[in-house]
Amino acid sequence: MTTAAERALGVHRVLEPVGVLPQAAHRLDPDAPTGRDEVRIDVERLNLDAASFRQLNEAHAGDGDAVRSAVLEIVGRRGKMQNPVTGSGGMLIGRVAEVGDDSPLGLAVGDRVATLVSLTLTPLRITDGLERWDGLGEQVPTTGTAVLFARSIAAVLPEDLPENVALAVLDVCGAPAATERVVRRGSSVAVIGAAGKSGCLSLAAARDAHAHRLVGVVRTEQEATALRAAGLADEVVVADATDPLAVAAAVGDPVDVTVVCVDVAGAEHGAVLATADGGTVVFFSMATSFPGAALGAEGMAADVTMLIGNGYTPGHAALALDLYRRTPGVRALIDPRVH
Ligand code: NAP
Repeated sequence: MTTAAERALGVHRVLEPVGVLPQAAHRLDPDAPTGRDEVRIDVERLNLDAASFRQLNEAHAGDGDAVRSAVLEIVGRRGKMQNPVTGSGGMLIGRVAEVGDDSPLGLAVGDRVATLVSLTLTPLRITDGLERWDGLGEQVPTTGTAVLFARSIAAVLPEDLPENVALAVLDVCGAPAATERVVRRGSSVAVIGAAGKSGCLSLAAARDAHAHRLVGVVRTEQEATALRAAGLADEVVVADATDPLAVAAAVGDPVDVTVVCVDVAGAEHGAVLATADGGTVVFFSMATSFPGAALGAEGMAADVTMLIGNGYTPGHAALALDLYRRTPGVRALIDPRVH
């Protein structure tokens, strides 16, 4: 018999292995009736995490039909969308269909919400075979049901923003919140993957926190041009995040804070090298390797604090939406990615 505290974490929905929390489970039960402490969502759209989508896209050589089949297979087998290679998920939007009498989430039937907990722990059933998705982008229009637990979080969708924008911003809202926490007045900051969604929001958050030198690291001249036009960074440099020496050379004087916002593996060593002794690296990227970061830093005798970008920080959703609304450069970089 699970206790109320255990149910709040969703333990009762874990099919295997028994005893783990839903995020670590191989398989969840998306079909049980909605519990008194749960909320059922009629799903309208998934936002696959960037690292997960990139891995699926590359594994299937850009074949959208094959990517669609792979996502359907994962959700059907696991009862949740958790890419077995990257371990990451994403989040979803939909309409609240049922609210248990004891749910503490404050949601009402009919609310349109974005879940702010990862798809990797959200019981999910897809009922339309993903027929409206071409498999070529991170946003997946679909029909199905999802379940929120008592300790899940969800945000009612803002009425002033298109839903694909809100979904994209909310998916990465932990990045600017984590950046705001570590940047001090006068800090120097590098953001790797700076022209992406989480990257540009992190730059804007660092600016708000009064960073004095903001370096945006991007992979291509095309992204550099877009980032310069957005006006979010003091310096825009081009380097492959997976080439540590190139990243360090491009950043120049090591910075106090480095935020890793790429969606590819292998960015750990460049980030550590670019960071000054006593500084901090925030690994927001889900493609980050814990051994790569920890052992790499040790091997460089680098005295840096390394933080895993927790997807949750109180107030993170409002912070990210606010940055999007009032920062034209952020809108200029995010909008083309979601339209
Ligand atoms: P995004 O919008 O796709 O941005 C990623 C950026 O990294 C893009 O500009 C991309 O350039 C760039 N990039 C890719 N490879 C690079 C390389 N080798 N060198 C330099 N830049 C490179 O992704 P996002 O949505 O911001 O997500 C970024 C990361 O955050 C992903 O790893 C995702 O999994 C993670 N994430 C974490 C959480 C959390 O809770 N911690 C939540 C959501 C997402 P191109 O566009 O040219 O490829």
